[in-house]
Amino acid sequence: MLMSQLRGAGGGAQNRVLETIYYRTPHSFYNTLEVKSISDTVLNLSFSKMKCWRRCRQEFHYKYVDKLERKLPAVPLVRGNIIHECINAWMNRRDWREVLAAYVSQYEKLFAEERDLYGDLPTDIEQIMENYTRKYQNDPFEYPAVELPFSVHLFGNVNFTGRIDALARDRDKGLWVMETKTHKKLPDDDVRLLNVQAVFYAWAVPHIEGYEEEQVKGILWNYIRTKPPAIPEVLKNGTLSKRKNIDTDYHTYLKAVRENGEDPNKYADILQKLEEQTDRFFRRIYFPKPSPTLVFNIMRDVEITANEILAYLGSDEEENWTGPFRYRNLNPFQCKNCSYRPLCEAELFDMDVEFVKRTMFQPRVRPDENAGPPRLEIIHQKPKALENFRHVPKWRRKG
Ligand code: SF4
Repeated sequence: MLMSQLRGAGGGAQNRVLETIYYRTPHSFYNTLEVKSISDTVLNLSFSKMKCWRRCRQEFHYKYVDKLERKLPAVPLVRGNIIHECINAWMNRRDWREVLAAYVSQYEKLFAEERDLYGDLPTDIEQIMENYTRKYQNDPFEYPAVELPFSVHLFGNVNFTGRIDALARDRDKGLWVMETKTHKKLPDDDVRLLNVQAVFYAWAVPHIEGYEEEQVKGILWNYIRTKPPAIPEVLKNGTLSKRKNIDTDYHTYLKAVRENGEDPNKYADILQKLEEQTDRFFRRIYFPKPSPTLVFNIMRDVEITANEILAYLGSDEEENWTGPFRYRNLNPFQCKNCSYRPLCEAELFDMDVEFVKRTMFQPRVRPDENAGPPRLEIIHQKPKALENFRHVPKWRRKG
């Protein structure tokens, strides 16, 4: 069936057609459209790779072509990764404290300056995990898969690879794609509504071996705040602060009252308020399965991005000016959080690039954090379609 026929179908019928195509038969759909990649390069496209390409092509080049990463990863990344690993252990009914202990021994080997940078990670994470496991001690879900790597053929030379945080089965046997996210501040609905990764993953599940017969019920967002609950201050008169804007939870406050040697009844008002705020630090939000129309449009965009990346990876930048170019997307807000900023600035401001590279960067240990085995690999080959085309723009010509 052609795209135009699909667009022509009306209302519910159209959705049913789209649903069949997008949730069941991706390969036949792409074959029907005769989508072909424009070079021989094989691309294992992950969500993070696609996002990086769209954000800044220079960043993409540092990360996926030069294969560089920062020697000292950003604090939020380290914190988030350790929490993820602890949660995975807990979902697999293993002891999360053992996972944390391995990191604590690494942390203890750090220099004092590095520890200052990371803060008291072990204590913070232990507190977060204790609170998390207490909150979900009667968890209504079972987890048939945790950290599920997958690779689904999209079209031509393009596979889509990823790693689903968890598949969660509810008491009615419904299957949810669970995405665990760590944030300092919990995000609002806009972030979930326009989340391409979730659409990808919900689409991919029925194409993963062992889940072909499954219908995904939706996306389960599992949010964790990385800021531990505040400990209430002791006032001059020896009692604890009851300030309205205190960013804490019931158990932390109650513990502080007891440690201060006081009667919890004196704090019944604030304790009651905190007890009612059950989702201040952890929140689970249920999103229905993405509609076929949404999947249809997103997959179309993915196809375009994949072909752009293929054209870029398959081209010889110095000689071929036919494909997508590498350029910087300089933007103060975005560049502020870019791991490659020191290198990018060194190149822009004529500094010692090699020195920056040597002191601050190292070869990437994992080619792609989202890709499951087999690990993401870009295979460079000469693009057939472009090999005879040589065009040098005027401004680059010598003389
Ligand atoms: S600093 Fe900005 S322009 Fe440079 S690579 Fe990073 S995002 Fe791109």
